[in-house]
Amino acid sequence: MTSPHHLHAVAAAWSLADALPHLATLADDEAAQIAAEAREEPALLRSPVYGSRHASGGHSDPVTGMIATATRPERRNRWAEMSSRAEQRITGVAAMLRITGVRDPLACILAALPNTLPGTAAVVARHLQDEDRWIREAIGIAPDRAPLHGPIPPMCPACRARNLHVQTAGPQSAWTVVCDGSREPDGGPHRPCLCTGTGCRCGMPGAVEGVAHIWPRAVVLGAVGGAR
Ligand SMILES: [Zn+2]
Ligand SMILES: [Zn+2]
Repeated sequence: MTSPHHLHAVAAAWSLADALPHLATLADDEAAQIAAEAREEPALLRSPVYGSRHASGGHSDPVTGMIATATRPERRNRWAEMSSRAEQRITGVAAMLRITGVRDPLACILAALPNTLPGTAAVVARHLQDEDRWIREAIGIAPDRAPLHGPIPPMCPACRARNLHVQTAGPQSAWTVVCDGSREPDGGPHRPCLCTGTGCRCGMPGAVEGVAHIWPRAVVLGAVGGAR
């Protein structure tokens, strides 16, 4: 079964699958950095500062200072924390689909999505979108998307704005097109392009009122006659 909820869920899963390796790399780099700092600390403890303080015979107590420094806990690796949080959340989403004890829950979610009900796909989409947005904002990577080009940028069948974007995470067969809505020429408020349900001009089978418009890329390319 395919619905806009399914398309959003699949797009979010691929987007998250693309973002997670970036987070893992940051977590590894940070772990290496923290390990390097830990190795440097004994050298700091032997620094001339302690020697001179000791020699001065003042109030400083180098031994106490050394113990305090040596037992200081390791700096937190917030990328690793974010990574394990994401893992937990994805495992939780998988559990909603009765997928447990697998090595790659996100891949299993993707495999299971076509057989879920639209309501379930909507919940999966929301959780994965939240996680994807959270991670991408934290590590500073933009969504994988590009404007839908053509000699004339194709028009959204629903709102008539020429503001369609291809979401390019994952394999090309999974790419989707979304409408970024419209804005008044004078810079007025942004109007999101939401589906009005049955009879909506988007022409999507299974159109759902209130859901942001989304189409499989192949459908849009067919409709606009080969625009890329
Ligand atoms: Zn639109
Ligand atoms: Zn619609």
